Amino acid sequence: MFTEPTPSASFSSSSQALEAAIAAVDVSAYARSRNHLDGRVTRLSPYITHGLTNIAQLFLRLQKEKQLSLQDKLAFEFGWREFFHHVWHHHGDAIFSDMRTALPGIRYATTLPADIREARTGIAAIDRAVETLYQTGYLHNHARMWLASYVVHLRKIHWRAGADWLYGHLLDGDLASNHLSWQWVAATFSNKPYLFNAENVAKFASEKWHCAGTPIDTSYETLEHIARNQLELARSTTTSGLHEPALLHAPKLSNALIQVPAGARIKLIHPWMLEDAPYDGLRIGCIHLPFHERFPWSQQRWDFVLSRMQSMTDMIYVGELNDLCKNLTHASALESVATLNPEYQEALTRHCSHLDPTPLYFAELPVPCRSFSAFWSKCTASASTAPNRNWHQ
Ligand SMILES: Cc1cc2nc3c(=O)[nH]c(=O)nc-3n(C[C@H](O)[C@H](O)[C@H](O)COP(=O)(O)OP(=O)(O)OC[C@H]3O[C@@H](n4cnc5c(N)ncnc54)[C@H](O)[C@@H]3O)c2cc1C
Repeated sequence: MFTEPTPSASFSSSSQALEAAIAAVDVSAYARSRNHLDGRVTRLSPYITHGLTNIAQLFLRLQKEKQLSLQDKLAFEFGWREFFHHVWHHHGDAIFSDMRTALPGIRYATTLPADIREARTGIAAIDRAVETLYQTGYLHNHARMWLASYVVHLRKIHWRAGADWLYGHLLDGDLASNHLSWQWVAATFSNKPYLFNAENVAKFASEKWHCAGTPIDTSYETLEHIARNQLELARSTTTSGLHEPALLHAPKLSNALIQVPAGARIKLIHPWMLEDAPYDGLRIGCIHLPFHERFPWSQQRWDFVLSRMQSMTDMIYVGELNDLCKNLTHASALESVATLNPEYQEALTRHCSHLDPTPLYFAELPVPCRSFSAFWSKCTASASTAPNRNWHQ
């Protein structure tokens, strides 16, 4: 038997919702409580991923309004996001494969089983995480870690299958933060597997997430043994679960007729640059289908992106960017903002006469760092004297 998830308040992509989220940031409460599922996390990630704001802008604003400093835990977490993008910038599509050799001798399945997708593993921390994901498009960091750890180490599913699935359902799905976090949990981008048990869940989550008496209610030694051998956790699967919302390769939106006056300046607005900055030309929202065929999104995510895009553009184009750009050759300028997202990146680089750099707080380092701590110490050593200035203030 299946039940539908109960509707719950989700994220709005309006400027007012973003402003409210920024106003609610509490730097010291964040440091004290961020590991708890009901802690004072910012829930800014959907806005950051889709470029309604960015780490550089947030840093500057929170320094001024909330006395955020580089020593604060929130600054450090912002740093993680920039680190993952630093790795993506240097390694490109290599982030979609194991960055380091996986745990030796383990064979991982390549598809995500139905009991996980349908929230009926019988492990409350996993089933509640999947339910929350489908309802809201958002998950607390700790719940993401539990989910990834369970999928990879206790069910022996390759991290890539879990990462692609989670990416599509998250409103904040970001290829670098998501796929590299999965790799960090899997130990292909870290030195050891990340593991959790029922005691850890009980410490950080409310009762309905607790897993006492289930197979996860065991010692770290047992979990480590399962992770490093071709073993799986005993199953406690239930029969009733949730329908997984569909992941869609294209939005339900038909193309408007695009009539562009000769000599117009045009800005191509893509899904990762939804900041409503003033522009004295025509703004065309672009959905470049080759990317989405590779990485589909939930309807919830399409709604989040398209409602914002509609509010800030003159028209939206859905299709092949190459076809659109062939019809824009009479524009006096074709502009956009650079993105690392594949397929978009190639098409924008090929057609645009000008690309603004992706906004970053820390200046891009010429040599890739192997670890976050190396990245953080290099960036913070120079940031006090020379933070990056390649972004809108
Ligand atoms: C398996 C897994 C998958 C993840 N997938 C994504 C993803 O697709 N998109 C995404 O933005 N983050 C991802 N994260 C990182 C992190 O979980 C989210 O950024 C965070 O939970 C977003 O919620 P928040 O805005 O309330 O975060 P807060 O804790 O309030 O942090 C503020 C901001 O700092 C950044 N940040 C915080 N923690 C991290 C982190 N560990 N890694 C990178 N950036 C961080 C984010 O931009 C976040 O919005 C993933 C983590 C794991 C373990």
